Amino acid sequence: MKIFKVCQACDRIIGEIELDDLTSQSVDPIMDIVGNVAYALCSVCAHEMEMKPRNVYH
Ligand SMILES: [Zn+2]
Repeated sequence: MKIFKVCQACDRIIGEIELDDLTSQSVDPIMDIVGNVAYALCSVCAHEMEMKPRNVYH
């Protein structure tokens, strides 16, 4: 089963992954999987979050 990996911050589609791969290989940290979309952070947003002072959105 193929799922889309989408950036949680900017909604950019990062890529497609096989759901089976999630368990077999450690790729980017997947934050949440909703339906056939896996929310994660693209490299740009992940980098920005490291640069910025830590903001927590609640
Ligand atoms: Zn992003």
